[in-house]
Amino acid sequence: MTDINDKLVQPSLASAPDQPPAAPLRRLPWQHLRQSLIAVPFRVRLTLLYTSLFSVALLVIGVGVHFAVAQALYAGVQSDLTSATQQVRAILNAVGLQSIRTPSGQLQLYLDRDFIQLFTNRNIGAQFFRLDGTLVSNTPNLEPYMLPLPPEALQLTSTNTNGITLVRDVNGVPVKSLITPVVLRDGQLLGFLQVSRPLDDVADTLTLLQQILLGGGMIALIVTGLGAMYLSKRALRPIEQITSTAQSIVRAEDLGRRIPEPAQRDELHQLTVTINELLSRLEQLFSTQQRFVADVSHELRTPLTAMQGNLEVLDRGAGADPALLKEVIDDMRRETARLIRMVNDLLLLVQSETHVALRHEPVELDTLLLEVFRELRPLAGQVRLRIGAEDQILVYGDRDRIKQALLNLGVNALQYTPPGGLVVLGLERYEQFACLSVADTGVGISEAERAHIFDRFYRVDRSRSRHSGGAGLGLSIVKWVAEAHSGYVTVASEVGRGSTFAIYLPLPEPAVSAGAE
Ligand code: ADP
Repeated sequence: MTDINDKLVQPSLASAPDQPPAAPLRRLPWQHLRQSLIAVPFRVRLTLLYTSLFSVALLVIGVGVHFAVAQALYAGVQSDLTSATQQVRAILNAVGLQSIRTPSGQLQLYLDRDFIQLFTNRNIGAQFFRLDGTLVSNTPNLEPYMLPLPPEALQLTSTNTNGITLVRDVNGVPVKSLITPVVLRDGQLLGFLQVSRPLDDVADTLTLLQQILLGGGMIALIVTGLGAMYLSKRALRPIEQITSTAQSIVRAEDLGRRIPEPAQRDELHQLTVTINELLSRLEQLFSTQQRFVADVSHELRTPLTAMQGNLEVLDRGAGADPALLKEVIDDMRRETARLIRMVNDLLLLVQSETHVALRHEPVELDTLLLEVFRELRPLAGQVRLRIGAEDQILVYGDRDRIKQALLNLGVNALQYTPPGGLVVLGLERYEQFACLSVADTGVGISEAERAHIFDRFYRVDRSRSRHSGGAGLGLSIVKWVAEAHSGYVTVASEVGRGSTFAIYLPLPEPAVSAGAE
């Protein structure tokens, strides 16, 4: 068998060349980063987060400032060049260029004193070029940055008053030039004016700004990092206290301890209060569970002990006496029935605790009341059992559970009503509820006891109740069933005169069409 399987399986595996063998799962770099960040303490992560946010903000501000300053500086350079060009033009116009001619009759540009004055002590120089691009004259300042006329300038006509702007490199220093045509009053193009300015000061200013921004930024970053570290440590200190208290509670296994509440009414106060509430709830649940287990063991022990006693009686030869044998068997049957009933009740109550959803089906309460009445009749004995008001009412819910609740009330009423007494079952509408009631003329329940009868395992008179087979679970089941149907139970009672229990179940919402009519 194995061989055949192997043979069948092997080729199919081998004939899957398209599927490469599963490669070991590779993690992407960011997954690695995430994984390693998870291991980093929260305080450090907080500090890292603060600092990175701050660096991003700093970077944005730094780049912005640098950009704005550079823009302003370069705009300043441009306006320097433009205003110098305009001043030169104004002077040229004032001296009347058309009158300047060389002895050979050629038009000649010259630089007068005003003109030179204009450029002395300024980080800006001017050059005149003939139409063929040869240099005529230049201001003496900025000699090292005097540049030839760029070839494209020769294309400028008298109408191109905006000229050409360009940046060239002179021995590693960028120099910006503005070239404009020089035009006579009569519109004749005479040559070209090139005004230049080295940009080294701008570059120096920007470098200095960069250094300030970088240095200042680093210092600010270090200060922020340290501050963030200190602040996050301070902010998380109360949480550490809460954790250590909680740990001490775990170590001591003492649910009775509470975390001291911080004085300030902030989120941490809220957290502490919530944890303390959680502890109280846990403590309560824990003690309820302990009590429940103790009660259950106690209750189970009683019938089991009784049965053990009966077994001993049998062992001692009760079989020889038919009357005794019958008594022992009856007794054992009663105890077994009681055990079964108790276990069933417990199962039901466990169901209530695990929030198992109840059925949601239409339940005709009048039919159900009749059924309960019929089932109770054999138990009534000398007690008169009647049906009082009986409306026709339909509710939605779990039929079996509602029936059981009503049966529990009925059995109790019959149990705690002496012979000759009266038990009346009823069904009426009461506001938005259907009211199933069981009234008896029995022993009644005092006010102090009424507060506890719905508790599990609570019995007013333990010996009497036990004799009747109850374990004190009946009414807690009734209460659970009513509440699980969004209803409630009430009890009115007077000692010696009787009690009336009532289960209120919500009526179905009226249909929308009915409401609209
Ligand atoms: P049990 O199974 O012992 O009857 P229940 O939870 O049904 O437990 O009832 C709790 C206690 O309430 C009973 O022990 C009994 O003392 C009291 N009780 C319940 N119903 C009645 C009633 N109709 N008349 C008087 N006492 C009642």
